[in-house]
Order: sequence, then structure tokens, then C-alpha cells
Amino acid sequence: MNLIRKMSVHTVAGVAAASLFLLATAGYARAAERLTKLADNVYAYVDTHGATPHNSFGANTGVIIGNDGIAVVDTLISAKEADRFIRDIRSISDKPIRYVINTHSHLDHTFGNSEFARLGAVIVSHENCRKNMLANGEANLKKAGAYGLTEKEMEGTRLSYPSLTFSDRMEIGLGGQTIQLIYPGPSHTDGSIMVYLPDKRILFAGDILFTDYHPNIASADLDSWLTVLDRVAALDAEKIVPGHGPLSANKDLADMKGYITLFDKKAKELAAASSDPQYIASELKKALPARKELEFLITANIMQRYLKKQGSKK
Ligand SMILES: [Zn+2]
Repeated sequence: MNLIRKMSVHTVAGVAAASLFLLATAGYARAAERLTKLADNVYAYVDTHGATPHNSFGANTGVIIGNDGIAVVDTLISAKEADRFIRDIRSISDKPIRYVINTHSHLDHTFGNSEFARLGAVIVSHENCRKNMLANGEANLKKAGAYGLTEKEMEGTRLSYPSLTFSDRMEIGLGGQTIQLIYPGPSHTDGSIMVYLPDKRILFAGDILFTDYHPNIASADLDSWLTVLDRVAALDAEKIVPGHGPLSANKDLADMKGYITLFDKKAKELAAASSDPQYIASELKKALPARKELEFLITANIMQRYLKKQGSKK
């Protein structure tokens, strides 16, 4: 309001300057959504600020370009989000998109699959990721509203399942670029994989790593996850793209181990004394290191893991 009032008494030059300012701001906002270059021919969405269901909960993705075409890592939460991703890919390269690699089955990483399948991409994942999608995908799509997504946002979204799976390791040759797919054991899910570019020492960790964002640990194998994080660290990658959060390094893997260990210990103690998720969440928040996004997951993790399963071993 103030700006408009001020502009009305300004000279034409002043208005022009103000318009330029607005244009520059708009350009900046758009640029923040764009793909970040990690190395020649390797790009990613990293650290989407203000993670909400409307921007795929800030899920990161990857774009790997070889002489023979493109492989993408994850596809966001809906057909519309995938279309945004594809537009951004097309601003970098017009090579054919040959592969989609799903790091795991969760909706914010796989519900954009069909837009890439339409372009002829082969969808690759761990065998358990495909199994989980076949078992839960349709039900999750039907209840997208419960995750905070509107019908309009989900318009055109349908499931496309991985057609090529592996159990331990797989290698994709993309023409001058080798992509290693590695299953390090159960962690965030029982089908979570890592995508590694050995020549560039760039790792896409999927949701095995959340940096600065609260993680979803609801259906995880926590003991195995801690071992997996050691295995990820042993790769000694130079750049790690987490499933959610900013570009990361080995230090963030150690922080993730600390977070999981502390969360599990505290949540067990608190759940033994109370069954009120809000109370447990507020106590946990005091104990946990501060993380800027996805705070609602603290309560969700407590409800799904520590209260629902009360009396069971885990
Ligand atoms: Zn996930």
C-alpha cells in the first residue's frame, strides 16, 4: 500500500525504477525454484524454502545428463509438480529423458512418475520400492487430501510404477556418465536407495538423509538406518543431495545419526509416561536440535511410531 501511494507521487523515472525492482524480485523468486548446478551436466533442486504439501514438502530431485540422454532422480508429488520439473529440465537440455530413478516409494518422490513415463522414460527402483508402491500407492493417492493436497493440485496425477528393479546394486551407463544405484539395507523405508556418480563424487541420498528438516521416521528401521548412515559416510562423497534440505556433506550424516538416536530414546521415555502426542511433541522439541522445516513430522512420528505401537517391541 505504502509503495503504491509513494509511486503515485513519483516521477516517471521513479515508477520505472520501482517496476525494475519488482521485476528483479520476481526473477529472484523464480530463480530460487530453479535447478542448482552441482557439476557439469548434474543439477538438483535443493533446499526449497517453506516446505509444504504444495511444493512436494520441499523434496529434492536430481538431473543427470549423459551423451545418450537424461536420468532424473525422483519426480515430486503430482503431475503438476512434475510438469514444473520437466519445464526446468527443458531450460537446461532437450536430450531425451531416458530414466526415472525413484529413491523410495513415498508420494513426494514418486507421484510425478507418470509425466516422465509419458515421455518414454523407464522407471527404476529397488524391488521393495516397487512392492510398496503397488501395495500402498493407490490408497495414498486417494487420500492425498489428508496430506494437505487439493483436488486441483492433484489433477491429472496417476501412478506409474517402476518397471525395472534390483535388489543390491545396479549400474546405468548414460553415455560418458556412470550412475551407480546402491541399496545399503533398510533405513527410512525398506526400499530406500542411494544414487552415486563416482567420477564426480556426487551422491543423491534420497530420504536416507534429511538436513535442517525434521525427518519422517514413522515406518523406518531405525537400528539399520544408523548402520546405513555409516555406509553412506564411507562413500566419502564430496556433495550429498539429501531427500529434503540444503546441499550436504558427511557432517550432516553424523547429525542425522544424532537426531535419530536422540528422538528414539526420548520418544520412548515420554511415551512410557504419557499418551498425549502434543505433550510428547512439545517435550521432544525442547530436546531436539533446532531444524527449520517439516516440524509437523515430530507429532506424526510420535503418533505413528510410538503411540500406535505401544506394547510392541519397537
Ligand atoms: Zn520419504
